[in-house]
Amino acid sequence: MSAAPQPSVTVRVPAKVNVQLAVGGRRPDGFHDLANVFFAVALGDEVTATPADTLRITVSGPDADQVPTDDSNLAARAARLLARHHGLRPDVHLHIAKDIPVAGGMAGGSADGAAALVACDALWGTGTPRDVLLDLAAELGSDVPFALLGGVALGHGRGEILRPLPVGGTFHWVFAVADGGLSTPAVFRECDRLRDEAGTGSDTASVPDPQADPVLLRALADGDPAALAAALTNDLQAAALSLRPALAATLRAGADGGAIGTLVSGSGPTCAFLAKDAESAVSVAEALAASGTCRSVRVTHGPVPGAAVTTAD
Ligand code: ATP
Repeated sequence: MSAAPQPSVTVRVPAKVNVQLAVGGRRPDGFHDLANVFFAVALGDEVTATPADTLRITVSGPDADQVPTDDSNLAARAARLLARHHGLRPDVHLHIAKDIPVAGGMAGGSADGAAALVACDALWGTGTPRDVLLDLAAELGSDVPFALLGGVALGHGRGEILRPLPVGGTFHWVFAVADGGLSTPAVFRECDRLRDEAGTGSDTASVPDPQADPVLLRALADGDPAALAAALTNDLQAAALSLRPALAATLRAGADGGAIGTLVSGSGPTCAFLAKDAESAVSVAEALAASGTCRSVRVTHGPVPGAAVTTAD
């Protein structure tokens, strides 16, 4: 006689691109205040939670060997945090089907943390209120609450204080995935170093408070790709290019291929290209693939919702 199938819950979670990333001065605690417009795209991971004797993480996908399967995995930390909150044992097998580039500036680890919170909450039947889940997410990391929320949102503080933003349509994106990742803390350090080198200073007294750009918010609300393309900015881009000069050729290849907007995604090294429509996104992707300036190319769109259960049995 075969054993009864184990119940399981699968959660799909989006990657993000920052359509605006304004970086303030380095605070005394080492963090930077940000004005961060997060945009969730259809490229995403899936996290499946199944009951187990002990907490266990497995990972599949092209970058699986770069993802830790110990307690440092954000999905494992999320399961422990939620279990502790409810006085439970974190006995769960979390399988991550990884499609988000690792260390690519698309918040893949944070996405898995958010997905694990939602998957474990459903599997354990703990019915955690949304605001509590968002607080637990913020404890895990500054990009985790947005992966729960999805859509488009303005993040303040370290990025964890979120305000959902209205969006007037679907935007079409192409992502060029680079070989190897970039460490987010190293990119922030390089941003400070470049500011010091330029003589502008890198502390909070020298750098203006980061503010959301009203022109960009209007372009999002209007669903206007040309206006959004003109308003895309990333204060970490110079630092990512300084650490990885080859990204300049990737950005150029996308622009030559017809992208109306180009930028490094978050701390990089993934590059993001805004296309005027779905058809144009395919030709931008073909041009990037032919250019030989990146490891792989992905066509996607957004905004899409945050972490949500897709199947439960
Ligand atoms: P961000 O844009 O939030 O700065 P990122 O997209 O550049 O992040 P991640 O893919 O989140 O980077 O990975 C950063 C590091 O986090 C990895 O090198 C890895 O060691 C660690 N990590 C922990 N948990 C995960 C996870 N579930 N998936 C991927 N990386 C993880």
